[in-house]
Amino acid sequence: MTESSSTPAMLNVAEQRLMYVVTRPEQVMVRGKGSYLWDANDNRYLDFIQGWAVNCLGHCPPVLVRAINKQAKQLVNGSPALLNDQMIEAAKILTENSCLDKVWFGNSGAEVNEGAVKLARKYGAEQLNGAYEIITTRDSFHGRTLGMMSASGKVGWDALFEPKVPGFIHVDFNDLEATSSAITDRTCAIMLEPIQGEAGVNVATQEYISGLRRLCDERGILLILDEIQTGIGRTGKLFGYENYEIEPDIMTLGKGLGGGFPVAAFLAKDKVCVFEAGDQGGTYGGQPLAMTAAYTVVNHMIDKKIPDRARRRGNSLKRKLRKLSKETGLTNIRGTGLLVAVDLPHDLGAAVVAQAFDNGLLINAPKPNALRFMPALTVSDAEVDEMLDILCGALASVS
Ligand SMILES: *Cc1c(COP(=O)(O)O)cnc(C)c1O
Repeated sequence: MTESSSTPAMLNVAEQRLMYVVTRPEQVMVRGKGSYLWDANDNRYLDFIQGWAVNCLGHCPPVLVRAINKQAKQLVNGSPALLNDQMIEAAKILTENSCLDKVWFGNSGAEVNEGAVKLARKYGAEQLNGAYEIITTRDSFHGRTLGMMSASGKVGWDALFEPKVPGFIHVDFNDLEATSSAITDRTCAIMLEPIQGEAGVNVATQEYISGLRRLCDERGILLILDEIQTGIGRTGKLFGYENYEIEPDIMTLGKGLGGGFPVAAFLAKDKVCVFEAGDQGGTYGGQPLAMTAAYTVVNHMIDKKIPDRARRRGNSLKRKLRKLSKETGLTNIRGTGLLVAVDLPHDLGAAVVAQAFDNGLLINAPKPNALRFMPALTVSDAEVDEMLDILCGALASVS
């Protein structure tokens, strides 16, 4: 830990030289281990955000640190135009353990969602008489590129950075009827999150997902699942679609895939893989360090049955929240696995988040009246109890 990283001079540089996009607390984070993060003054934080549901094995998991270190000595970056051994291993483990046949690797969620949309549009051009429209859902979040801001149904985004990319139709989430009515000859795909994460953990019903699959089959269009938040064990299965016993035609992954290392992917069924040379690419896609991270995380997940653990821990978290609901006023306890949210009695989200931070807990308010829990999938029962203690204290002092 360096003394200077918490000095006013440091904060001054941060304020002057980092482009403003969000208000951050003034503590400077310097290290992490498991469920904990430390700032430059050695204050400890129990982390129930984990890099936005990214660090699925917690901070600096030894298995990942070892793999990245080993690979860094071997080959950091090959070339997007050349194969590398880590890329092949990562492709193998993802396709062997999902219903999908082929994968393309990128760096961020938004980038692979763009890729998925391109693939669906090309499929539409070739197989569906030029169909290009994609039906997405209101309140959805698919990323921050212009294309993905256009695809997303996030409240308030429709007016930003105009003009938007055309070709996205928004309908209500969990509304099969509305989706069905929105399908036309121009539709090539339906794209959604099985659980809307950023919108505050809205879980798709079985009936809805089964219905979407049926609609897609009947109309010959594609079902794209954005599993950037729900994938890699988060919902108690390796992939969120497994909770619904259906198979998507295309699936996107990010966040948990690298356990904290930036890497993302989209996967597709063989029949959908219509790209030709030059259609898709990226300088860093499939680079060895990222591929080692992805392989190591997925292999560890499967080997140690971490999704099962996440499911049990998530159920116990929800049980404990329900027990506390009288005393805390928390309602609508929802979610699958370790993607859980609750509603607050009033719009106290920001105040609770700030108070919890002061008391050493990182927690997220996706909406003014909701809190979201997205801890490491390896979080312990004792850490869950510690979180609830701090949370109850924070709730008591703000209400
Ligand atoms: C975070 C997220 C994205 C965007 O991922 P980035 O890596 O930030 O581009 C897209 N879709 C969902 C469901 C997400 O949670």
